[in-house]
Amino acid sequence: MTVADYMAAANAHYYATRDPLGAAGDFTTAPEISQMFGEMVGIWIADLWLRAGRPAFSYVELGPGRGTLASDALRAMARFGAVPQGIHLVETSPMLRAAQAARLPAAVHHGDITGLPDDVAPLIVANEFFDALPIHQYVRTCDGWRERIVVRDRGALVPKAGSIPADEAVPAALRHHGEGTVVETAPAAAAIMQSCAFRLARRGGAMLVIDYGYSGPAAGDTLQAVKNHRFANPFAQPGEVDLTAHVDFSALAFAALGGGALVAGPVSQGEWLRRLGIDARMKALAAAAPDRADELAGQRDRLVEPDAMGELFRAMAIHAPTWPVPEGFAHPGGPS
Ligand code: SAH
Repeated sequence: MTVADYMAAANAHYYATRDPLGAAGDFTTAPEISQMFGEMVGIWIADLWLRAGRPAFSYVELGPGRGTLASDALRAMARFGAVPQGIHLVETSPMLRAAQAARLPAAVHHGDITGLPDDVAPLIVANEFFDALPIHQYVRTCDGWRERIVVRDRGALVPKAGSIPADEAVPAALRHHGEGTVVETAPAAAAIMQSCAFRLARRGGAMLVIDYGYSGPAAGDTLQAVKNHRFANPFAQPGEVDLTAHVDFSALAFAALGGGALVAGPVSQGEWLRRLGIDARMKALAAAAPDRADELAGQRDRLVEPDAMGELFRAMAIHAPTWPVPEGFAHPGGPS
């Protein structure tokens, strides 16, 4: 099977059979580090909604984990009067659906984005969602580009170049790379992005994508596995380790533009959180609970500082052409 089919099957089992988040799980995400993360997302939505003229809207989240981000964001939004007409969560994992329902009793679940209602402008959030979607890998052999497949070799699963020529599947800008080079594409991610962009262009609204990644086109093997907060072999223990790949923000932006939406960013997560006011929020929380000041400063640093999540993670917004430019990104003509 292809690396993409392998990744899809392994992650479907992985997410269906556990809650992977937090110290006792395999990895920790930004909303699980601090309430300030979800609050900044909520403030970002409230600001945009106010400037758009307070239209009816729905809150949509893709891969909402434990529902922590949504509950922190919705609480922050409510302070500005931004109350969604509906809360829609796209989630495949029955276990995580249960955790989300406990936190957000009013939420409606969807298995994929096709069933989302199309009645009002959606405000869509996707944090560490796109990195979990399957990628195709292509490897340059002496006979040209081949798709990478996963085969059994003496009892172990290993990646290997397939036999069908795949030069056309490799982005033209990357085809010149030499033997041994790996190139990745993420058609599943692009399809979801373009479908969201169609909705935004038609109904209004905006989408916030936060993830780790790069601005392509770029070559490189970014498939990685994490177990118990450590890197693992992606091909050992399928379905028992978290498989992710770095997100190509340029490819997502291209898909969004193709769907008729506009794109703002990406900027680094640290920059985006600072522009949204995380330092002021930290001071306000610390003033209200002085004994927690050090803990809050530590959380802020993990989210913002370049040697933690601040640089590797990026934020990008997609918005309807009829909506205002979202806050926290480069202003037209200004510095990025
Ligand atoms: N956004 C959360 C969780 C990130 S983990 C946070 O920041 O804490 C990835 C999330 O995406 C999980 O909720 C997982 O179950 C979900 N997910 C993974 N693949 C999916 C798919 N194909 N469709 C819908 N949800 C998916």
